[in-house]
Amino acid sequence: MPDFDVVLIGSGPGGYVAAIHAARQGAKVAIVEQKATEWGGTCLNWGCIPTKTLVQSAEVLRTVRRAAEFGVKVGEPEIDWPAMQERKDRIVKAMRQGVQGLLKSNGVEMVTGRGRAAATSSWRPDRWSPGRPSRAPTSVSPVTPSSASARSPIHWS
Ligand SMILES: Cc1cc2nc3c(=O)[nH]c(=O)nc-3n(C[C@H](O)[C@H](O)[C@H](O)COP(=O)(O)OP(=O)(O)OC[C@H]3O[C@@H](n4cnc5c(N)ncnc54)[C@H](O)[C@@H]3O)c2cc1C
Repeated sequence: MPDFDVVLIGSGPGGYVAAIHAARQGAKVAIVEQKATEWGGTCLNWGCIPTKTLVQSAEVLRTVRRAAEFGVKVGEPEIDWPAMQERKDRIVKAMRQGVQGLLKSNGVEMVTGRGRAAATSSWRPDRWSPGRPSRAPTSVSPVTPSSASARSPIHWS
């Protein structure tokens, strides 16, 4: 396993933004995501982005229903649930690829696997791509957020 200055566990907004920032400061950075299909984390795959695409569809429906108020004649609108889902999935996919592209273009090594802090001076993903050296880095220490908004400490297993 190569040495890194910074290793982030989890590719949500917390992880990928920190990874890109660290890489732009010149650090050698890796980020570990346990779910190959969920780069971008909860926000991008299940939370903020998908919900807002569906909310936008609902907004369009509401506006169309009020069309007569604006002097526009339309028929009774119908919800096309599969099309709504397809739009949501397309947007999520594009944004997921965008996050991966940003990480790549900033030189961040993306590792798919379940990461854990094995000790105060090393880390390892449970799965590492075959063919990679297995030497543990010596220059990595787990850190917890120092923000006042972080109410509970992170416990590393
Ligand atoms: C329905 C919903 C709607 C939301 N809407 C909004 C909104 O409109 N605006 C807003 O600001 N926030 C919203 N949020 C909250 C937002 O999603 C979270 O605040 C945000 O995702 C937190 O980012 P994070 O990086 O801390 O964690 P996450 O986005 O949860 O990312 C954590 C990532 O780490 C991975 N991971 C976890 N453990 C390991 C491990 N051991 N090894 C490797 N990978 C691991 C997970 O698979 C995941 O991809 C919403 C949340 C939900 C559920």
